[in-house]
Amino acid sequence: MSLAPSTLGFIGLGVMGAAECLNLLRKSGTPTVVFDLNPDNIEPLVAAGAIPAESVAEVAARADVMFLSLPGGTEVSAVLYDEGGILGAARPGSLVIDLSTTPVAVAKAAHDRLAQRQLSFLDAPVARTRKAAVAGTLAIMVGGAESDYRRAEPLLRTMGTDVTHCGPGGAGALLKLVNNTVVFETVVALAEAVTLARHSGLVTDETLFDVLGGGSAGSFVLENHGRSALLPDQHPTGIFPAAYMRKDLGYTLELAAELGVELPSATLAHSMLDQLCDNGFAQNYHTAVVRLLDKDRK
Ligand code: NAD
Repeated sequence: MSLAPSTLGFIGLGVMGAAECLNLLRKSGTPTVVFDLNPDNIEPLVAAGAIPAESVAEVAARADVMFLSLPGGTEVSAVLYDEGGILGAARPGSLVIDLSTTPVAVAKAAHDRLAQRQLSFLDAPVARTRKAAVAGTLAIMVGGAESDYRRAEPLLRTMGTDVTHCGPGGAGALLKLVNNTVVFETVVALAEAVTLARHSGLVTDETLFDVLGGGSAGSFVLENHGRSALLPDQHPTGIFPAAYMRKDLGYTLELAAELGVELPSATLAHSMLDQLCDNGFAQNYHTAVVRLLDKDRK
């Protein structure tokens, strides 16, 4: 089989998928068939030269390598297995690359079920922000067979600068869940630090961030999530919502339960996300967790 696909497919053109697909289309120079349940999300990609499809099945029938960027495991399973899904419509030898964040069990099942139909699957969730998706500088963690990874790698490099083959099927999904769990637990730690420091009245927010950032508590999360959102206390919608972080920590806890491992900090962090979503912040950037600690700030 040739490594170069003749037609690409992309299903799920939301906050991340639209930007990922645009880079794929522009840098691969390969015809790309696109679909999203929301027609408004298809329009900008078609304006950039993508070919619109009427359904998931049409993408699957036309593309030999297809990408998914969907909300989570439920939607990925529906697109793969439901009537009119990829499993029934794709041609043998096709490769499905899932960029969504899903449970490890969903990724492992997809590897097995697609293999029974001579289809290949890679779990390839992405880390970083929409800004990185636009710039093509995502981190992408991939699980699956080495030969499938080699086929996918040049395409993944149109979207990301840090592309890692992490291990067998499920390894990419696992590392993405671990990544987001560490990120959110760090956000909670920073939210507590900033709340305590503000209530002390002893230091400015800038001094807090400069001293922590320059010392042993410095981190990527402090420099990015901290400075962009916790410092100005701005937690916008339309980036990475608390509801998606709740989903991801939920997947982490599901896996921990399956493996018989206890994760007390992740359990507490997940319950804070429940509270955040129940208090009207589900669509806000997950850094809004600081509002649970400091209820007086508006
Ligand atoms: P999004 O909700 O903006 O986009 C999802 C898209 O999928 C929507 O356009 C929706 O209409 C479409 N969709 C849903 N079900 C569908 C179906 N059955 N068929 C076709 N289209 C369907 O989500 P997003 O922010 O782009 O995130 C996508 C994935 O990437 C998620 O798994 C998320 O956890 C992960 N992620 C997001 C970010 C971020 O900053 N937003 C960062 C890293 C990873």
